[in-house]
Amino acid sequence: MAKETVLVVEDEEDIAELVRLHLAREGYHVLCAGSGEDGLRLVQTRSPALVVLDLMLPGIDGLEVCREIRSHPATQRTSILMLTAKGEESDIVVGLQLGADDYVTKPFSPKVLLARVKALLRRKTEGVVDDQTSIALHHIVINPGRREVTVAGKPASLTYTEFGILHLLARRPGWVFTRTQIRDASRGEDSISTDRAVDVQIVSLRRKLGPAGKYIETVRGVGYRFKE
Ligand code: CA
Repeated sequence: MAKETVLVVEDEEDIAELVRLHLAREGYHVLCAGSGEDGLRLVQTRSPALVVLDLMLPGIDGLEVCREIRSHPATQRTSILMLTAKGEESDIVVGLQLGADDYVTKPFSPKVLLARVKALLRRKTEGVVDDQTSIALHHIVINPGRREVTVAGKPASLTYTEFGILHLLARRPGWVFTRTQIRDASRGEDSISTDRAVDVQIVSLRRKLGPAGKYIETVRGVGYRFKE
């Protein structure tokens, strides 16, 4: 079976070559670009399924490339995996808010990168769980129709907002959500007005989930995710 096309946008040649090699070995068609401008051109002309996007690029940077990809109807469904350096947490947050799907921090192991690429492409074909489908993960069962949650068979009594946050995270296990994304998604009566209020909601949510609360993970400097 022919695999998807993946574009690698990275100006550091040894990293680009490492990524190219590992992706090609898995059967992907790999394209490489050394600048944001070249990357965008290839996104438009070759329609890759996924872009591995370094943020620090000469000329237009990765965040701008991300914004461009998301702003055009023809390319907006392209998966974007950011490559970031340590200490770039604020760029990661901006990137996720611009619509990047995931990120890997340098130095990374090719194995981890490959796993993320595969997970993103798999999600793309499977799509996201729809709003009304029950979710069962790590002994937590979420029933959106009834807005009910059970942990190991016992009901957990969550507020409207806590339920919304849990449902948001659990629909996409492994995805990192920024505090702003969590705030935007919560539209309960007691909607959340600050980042700090998101943290307070998470603390309460974890407490109510008991030992299963550990599956809501903090991603330092970025946000939260439900453990895959
Ligand atoms: Ca770079």
